[in-house]
Amino acid sequence: MLKATAIRAASAVTRRVRPGVGCVLMLHRVIPDAERSLFPQNRALEITPEDLRAMLAWVRERGIEPSALDALPARLAEPHEPKFVCFTLDDGCRDSLHHALPAFREYDTPFSVNVTNGFVGGTVSVWWYLLEEVLTAGWRLRFSWDGRDYDFLTDTLAARLRAYDEIATLLRGLGSRRDELIAHLAGLTERDPLACTRRTSMTWDEVRQLAADPLATIGAHTHGHHSLNQLTDAEIEVEVHAARRELEAQIRRPVRHFAYPFGGRNAVNEREFELVRRGGFTTMLTTRNANLFPEHAGLLDRLPRLGVSGNYPAVETLNLIESGFASAVQWRGQRVVGE
Ligand SMILES: [Zn+2]
Repeated sequence: MLKATAIRAASAVTRRVRPGVGCVLMLHRVIPDAERSLFPQNRALEITPEDLRAMLAWVRERGIEPSALDALPARLAEPHEPKFVCFTLDDGCRDSLHHALPAFREYDTPFSVNVTNGFVGGTVSVWWYLLEEVLTAGWRLRFSWDGRDYDFLTDTLAARLRAYDEIATLLRGLGSRRDELIAHLAGLTERDPLACTRRTSMTWDEVRQLAADPLATIGAHTHGHHSLNQLTDAEIEVEVHAARRELEAQIRRPVRHFAYPFGGRNAVNEREFELVRRGGFTTMLTTRNANLFPEHAGLLDRLPRLGVSGNYPAVETLNLIESGFASAVQWRGQRVVGE
């Protein structure tokens, strides 16, 4: 009985699987296996250079056409075979230059790197790496924040991962006060909250070097990498529009594309789409997992992407997400994901 129900449910999903006319892939870091994180929350953001090459080879074998983001609106307005794919890497990690660029050159594939100015300038903590270090430093983490006492046992990996999720949720909900808590957590274990930023992020010179490559497009990814729904309108003006102007001045070229930090439903919705749209970006990318359809030509302020998790084998993951299967399950068969 259970089996029949499961088969019916699976075939209902399969009927709703649609690969779309194109997709935007979302990556973060491309680093050797030995440098990857132990926490799956961070490891999800890390694939190896071998993974990236395998993905590029898979795209070529399948006859999917790599495209630059500049060409995306036209590809949606006048869809045609073959399906297209845009590669994007978020945050402005140093490995985008040193590990990803050589692979994209080998496969002559355009790609975009969405730069968080505060990471590149070395003034904002890449706090998800700091948090892993803080939670690995001892067997217990205690702190007070906003009148509440937090007490986490961190003596096993499972306990550390639970603590990570709770503190990460707290940090993401703090808006402009986030950095105060980050500094406090770093201080508890005598860490420099910006050391992880210097280790993982490009310098402005490196961003300029990347921007000069004809295959690379530089996109904006705010100044401080906040959930935009935690910020006031005035703060969003600074985080999104002033940061874009600074990025343009630093790389001395126009920046036409934007990626929302934490672009899920719990971070950006109508208000944030409207405030960001005022900048007149060509594309605005969320982290909602889905393929692209012709209807997305009218939803350029909220385009879904397909996130590639480093926790699973790269090519198998790509197969599953590009086919539309994973998003059909997640969105219960909804074809055009926009809201
Ligand atoms: Zn990001």
